[in-house]
Amino acid sequence: MADGFNDTPKGAAATTRWVYSFGGGSADGDAKMKNLLGGKGANLAEMSALGLPVPPGLTITTEACVHYYSNAQSYPPDLEGQVDAGLAKVEALAGKKFGDAANPLLVSVRSGARASMPGMMDTVLNLGLNDQTVEGLAKLSGDRRFAFDSYRRFIQMYSNVVLGLEHSLFEEILDDAKDRLDVSVDTALTAADWEKVVAEYKVAVKRELGSDFPQDPRDQLWGAVGAVFASWMNDRAKFYRRMHDIPESWGTAVNVQSMVFGNMGDTSATGVAFTRNPSTGENRLYGEFLINAQGEDVVAGIRTPQALTKATREEMGEKAPSMEEAMPEVFLQFKDVVERLERHYRDMQDIEFTVERGHLYMLQTRNGKRTAKAALKMAVDQVAESLITRDEAVMRVEAASLDQLLHPTIDPGAVRDLIAVGLPASPGAATGKIAFQADEAERLAELGEAVILVREETSPEDIHGMHAARGVVTCRGGMTSHAAVVARGMGRACVSGAGEIQIDEKAGELRARGRVFKTGDIITIDGGKGEVLAGAVEMIEPELSGDFAQLMVWADEVRRLKVRANAETPLDARTARGFGAEGIGLCRTEHMFFEEDRISAVREMILADDEKGRRTALAKILPYQRSDFTELFEIMAGLPVTIRLLDPPLHEFLPHTDAEIEELATSAGLDLEKLKRRRSELSETNPMLGWRGCRLGVAFPEIYEMQVRAIFEAACAVKKKSEAPIVEVMHPLVAKKEEMAFLRKLTDNTAKAVLKEQGVELDYKVGAMIELPRAAIRADQLAETAEFFSFGTNDLTQTTFGISRDDSGKFLDAYLKKNIIEKDPFVSIDQEGVGELIKLGVERARSTRPDVKLGICGEHGGDPASIGFCEAVGLDYVSCSPYRVPIARLAAAQAALEAKAK
Ligand code: ADP
Ligand code: MG
Ligand code: MG
Repeated sequence: MADGFNDTPKGAAATTRWVYSFGGGSADGDAKMKNLLGGKGANLAEMSALGLPVPPGLTITTEACVHYYSNAQSYPPDLEGQVDAGLAKVEALAGKKFGDAANPLLVSVRSGARASMPGMMDTVLNLGLNDQTVEGLAKLSGDRRFAFDSYRRFIQMYSNVVLGLEHSLFEEILDDAKDRLDVSVDTALTAADWEKVVAEYKVAVKRELGSDFPQDPRDQLWGAVGAVFASWMNDRAKFYRRMHDIPESWGTAVNVQSMVFGNMGDTSATGVAFTRNPSTGENRLYGEFLINAQGEDVVAGIRTPQALTKATREEMGEKAPSMEEAMPEVFLQFKDVVERLERHYRDMQDIEFTVERGHLYMLQTRNGKRTAKAALKMAVDQVAESLITRDEAVMRVEAASLDQLLHPTIDPGAVRDLIAVGLPASPGAATGKIAFQADEAERLAELGEAVILVREETSPEDIHGMHAARGVVTCRGGMTSHAAVVARGMGRACVSGAGEIQIDEKAGELRARGRVFKTGDIITIDGGKGEVLAGAVEMIEPELSGDFAQLMVWADEVRRLKVRANAETPLDARTARGFGAEGIGLCRTEHMFFEEDRISAVREMILADDEKGRRTALAKILPYQRSDFTELFEIMAGLPVTIRLLDPPLHEFLPHTDAEIEELATSAGLDLEKLKRRRSELSETNPMLGWRGCRLGVAFPEIYEMQVRAIFEAACAVKKKSEAPIVEVMHPLVAKKEEMAFLRKLTDNTAKAVLKEQGVELDYKVGAMIELPRAAIRADQLAETAEFFSFGTNDLTQTTFGISRDDSGKFLDAYLKKNIIEKDPFVSIDQEGVGELIKLGVERARSTRPDVKLGICGEHGGDPASIGFCEAVGLDYVSCSPYRVPIARLAAAQAALEAKAK
């Protein structure tokens, strides 16, 4: 994206229109022109054209900004002329002249990108003031105090935003003045006081910069325009863009607008409003205002703002009058305008306004940001109000935001005592006692304690501890590290990669930011923010409210993609069903192998050096597997269950310490030396590319035979008791058609044998997980014997990029910062690469077997952008962790609606 300016209309520069005017009941632009005019400019134009009271102004287009950056930071040659012409229109409408000593026009200079980017640049107000025009303003307004208050505001803002001087420089001068005068609020300063402050400000500027504060209004104007363009590339803006996927190539617009004054005494005011409550969604005007104030005074916390309505004031128990009471006539007009705006935009509006001596002016409107809870309520309410359709309601709620509602969260009002910051790996919050080992976590949990497992990093051996814990913290690992993936799957809160934390397991303590916490100390983690906090913090429980359920019904009505869950435990399967999963898309059987009572049989099986030894061990595992599958089939009655056969990175199962291997030798009655030899034989240089997936089933068919037997014995038992389960057997990491054919035969032979033994008839499907580029490329050949495919995009991403997902955290960040990749490909599908392989796989699989069933079961199955991609390439279903099922349902519905609109 660094070179993303190639859509510049270079050749067309001579005839390009860079400036659009608004005001006086009309406008050159409208709300649909956000890309060119930025959100703020487009909506100012729209409000003007609606005949609302908007101070006149002009918008310099985002294309001018794009030109600026693709031409060595220079303006288009004809920009100045167009701005002059636009300014002349503003002068005519305002009846004032820019720079005129007697009748000066003052303007604000405001940034405004396509998407709102809070904090990108501060607005400069009162531009055009200098030592002469301030006198004109004083005379014109008949209020010298107001004129000099405006002038000092201007010097302060301009010096900060354009000249780069610190705010504190001016705040100190003002504080000194207030101390001298023995007053506490700005409003207590007189005209003469402000005049003195202005003089001191100017001295300070000269001292800091070695030159006078710019007096020429034209210099001021172009200085401010340049500062807006420059702010597009400041660190805050870059960071914000990266967080929110806003391309650098968009550029920002600049709005130059005639000033209106909320600081002209007690009939003047400034304020902000939402047409509905943005955190609860309640349909009631919500906001604040300040009398005799300007611009950002309301949010800057200089004075306590007052409520807009009488009802709110009374509820809050406040004394200071509401706007409704203080200026009833303007309030009625205001109420009328905001209601009209909401009806016009058909969505909740976030509004900025100013009252100048009893006259209302609208300065901004936009669709307001809202919490997930508010978004649901507003969408459902607005359908009831016939303001929007059901389909529109489905589009209104950001799918990913539902996460806020699916986990316990920290009370927004709670005090946070920060210990360390890591990655927001799995949302939700949890409080508990620190445990440094999985066993310890489990032990404490069995005693009924809430536990937070804190580890350097986790491995499959820690699963029982993660399960027992309320939350997990790791010092190493990224967003798709073992800890992150497993925690999301289990719905446990997780902060991963908290590098500030140092663990001393022996001493049973962790250190971070100079503090020490011991085993058993209570901490809280905020998995949605990636924060680790000291002590217990107030929580809010997740709530599946009526609005949530209603919106899900509407989403399901338009959705084409089926949504399944990745689940292996009964608890996860029940949760998934509760959230509306339409089956299990991935049951990872290796997770079932790690439970305390089975792991030694599993190790015995893996370490056995002949088939006989393996069969002995497998016979011990079979009953466990059978009962696992029986329970899953029962919970998922009537819905498909895809069971993936064992896919172990072998090393994860091996006993690590000598103590562990000795224990195994004793418990299984095996020869210790032989076991040790076998362990070193099996250890691999590169386990991720080693003896994984179906390679195990090919080398030791008896392992997969045992699993298939367990699956079908369970299926027969369930069918005999009740409904026939819908069984899908999936083979992992398949690459070649011969491999698939071998596995198919193995599956069929065992399945048929069991069905015959049991005297049961049952349909089932055999398929493969596509995790290797070769499998995607040759899906046509695999489909000769496979009846379904599930794209395992975690591994497919890993094998396509050749990046280990467990190690990617260390360097992907550098790639993100340098704009070499836009998004972590383990979080959102790399559509150009991995996606292309999926497309090819889909096409080729269908060419052999038109009714082949196609799904996805990587982490991407729960990522809204990736779900959009799955809809576009025509998959049949997505499968994601249980807690993301509602998100996937909504995202799938939105993708279907988008596809319909095209
Ligand atoms: P942001 O995008 O950070 O909200 P704005 O450009 O909206 O910045 O400006 C912030 C505030 O400055 C506005 O809410 C308004 O109170 C004030 N302001 C901006 N332009 C004018 C104007 N022409 N007259 C009076 N106040 C203005
Ligand atoms: Mg602001
Ligand atoms: Mg604003």
